[in-house]
Amino acid sequence: MTTENCIFCKIISGEIPAQLVAESEHAIAFNDISPQQPVHVLIVPREHHANVTELALANPLVMQDVMQLGAKVSQMLTEGSHRFTFNTGAAAGQTVFHVHGHIMSKTPKTNG
Ligand code: 5GP
Ligand code: ZN
Repeated sequence: MTTENCIFCKIISGEIPAQLVAESEHAIAFNDISPQQPVHVLIVPREHHANVTELALANPLVMQDVMQLGAKVSQMLTEGSHRFTFNTGAAAGQTVFHVHGHIMSKTPKTNG
């Protein structure tokens, strides 16, 4: 997949809408269109890489930014317990080939 037909590149450029949760210099966080848990946010670097292996090896600074944005979103939206997962490769369930981490939690933060 190239950046021209990549759905997450289109979300990053604003061509396709998404529910933005937070952003940083190198990444954005938006709600998954088909949430699997009460909190389900995707953490997506602005730069296109096919998967987390390629990103981590090519650009550790952006990888760090992705991890920090995920940490911030988990603190914003959950009581602490969550999963932060990167499906890598079709056989592992990856369906969008622009690296993204899933922040998923069954325990959304309660207000008061
Ligand atoms: P993967 O299976 O590649 O790890 O995760 C891809 C995720 O992207 C899925 O959870 C899917 O629901 C989500 N997704 C696919 N297309 C869109 C979209 O257009 N907008 C949003 N917000 N999420 C999407
Ligand atoms: Zn992309």
